[in-house]
Amino acid sequence: MSSDPAPHPIPLSAPHIGGNAWAYVKECLDSGWVSSAGAFVDGFQARFAERLGGGHAVATASGTSALHLALLTLGVRPGDEVLTSTLTFIAPVNAIRYCGAVPVLMDAEPDHWQMDPARLAAFLERVTERRDGQTVNRESGRPIRAILPVHILGHACDLDAIMALGQRFGLPVIEDATESLGSGHRGRPLGTIGTVGCFSFNGNKLMTTGAGGLAFSHDATLAGRIRHLSTQAKLPGDDFEHDELGYNYRMSNMQAALGMAQLEQLDFHIAEKARIAARYDNAFANAAGIRLQQRAQWADRCFWLYTVRLPGRDSRDLIAHLKRHAIESRPLWQAMHLSRAHRDCPREGGEVAATLVRECISLPCSVGLDAADQDRVIQACLEWLGQA
Ligand SMILES: *Cc1c(COP(=O)(O)O)cnc(C)c1O
Repeated sequence: MSSDPAPHPIPLSAPHIGGNAWAYVKECLDSGWVSSAGAFVDGFQARFAERLGGGHAVATASGTSALHLALLTLGVRPGDEVLTSTLTFIAPVNAIRYCGAVPVLMDAEPDHWQMDPARLAAFLERVTERRDGQTVNRESGRPIRAILPVHILGHACDLDAIMALGQRFGLPVIEDATESLGSGHRGRPLGTIGTVGCFSFNGNKLMTTGAGGLAFSHDATLAGRIRHLSTQAKLPGDDFEHDELGYNYRMSNMQAALGMAQLEQLDFHIAEKARIAARYDNAFANAAGIRLQQRAQWADRCFWLYTVRLPGRDSRDLIAHLKRHAIESRPLWQAMHLSRAHRDCPREGGEVAATLVRECISLPCSVGLDAADQDRVIQACLEWLGQA
């Protein structure tokens, strides 16, 4: 037994609240503009859209609500099918189910861990037919309404292939860019390439509003519809008139105030994550038993979490080892086709995703992580790999 004092805990990814956060939130409190209207909401939407190169941004209560509204606005209805990734956090699959639609879960590819376009193509080529101007799954009889690829861990899906399939089969693409703010595909920001892109500002994302999200589109009409549905479908004017079923999915001015400050810090956060990732990459480059996430030639990547793969091993063993060293780490999300919430959904493959879930681990990468703490993580990993 060691008599050293217990080492301090190293968190996985703690939010970094800096810059003008205090000043902007205080401005809300001082002015009383704390709720779902106010200058920060308008300003945050405008600045965010500007950062994405121009377009329309609608701030929402969460990334999940942005996805739900994107699906509804693109006409997803009960009994429709939406094609999405099985290797994802559960939010997009839940959002499809909120619409009463059926998620069809596509396997991941093994190099970049994103939706496998070959699976998507095989599924569409096998099952679809055009019926009355609609793309229909002739095996299930259900209309296929959209493709919802999830860009996980800051890396772009193969959007050349996915967008081409969308076009060929007449399906809009909704990008779940919640984990990939700042990342791009061949120079274009993720979330701006499909018909709608969705972002999240939950506490563990690259920037936070506490909780919050945003839907982005180049289509003003679509964005207007999303905004309308997010405000209980209330018509303008003093009369409380609503023209359809709406939702209370707005972002508050206080959240947007924090969001504005975080947006000002975003490039700093991105640079910090890149610095941390480069240091890990360097430390693990020649280590046996650890494989880095490969960057595709189409991907301009920003890191959110830093994740590696341990081929043939169970990442839970390393997670337990790190925990003994007071280091927080985590596995990927249970694949959706294995989740009790969604395992009855149809799927196309799933074995690659299941393997990645067993073998992948995300390591500490908080903005501000210092070299000494990162070295502790690296040493503990190398020790577990038997190479210290
Ligand atoms: C974080 C996340 C979301 C949205 O989460 P919210 O907590 O609702 O903001 C959606 N999809 C993925 C893949 C995510 O990681």
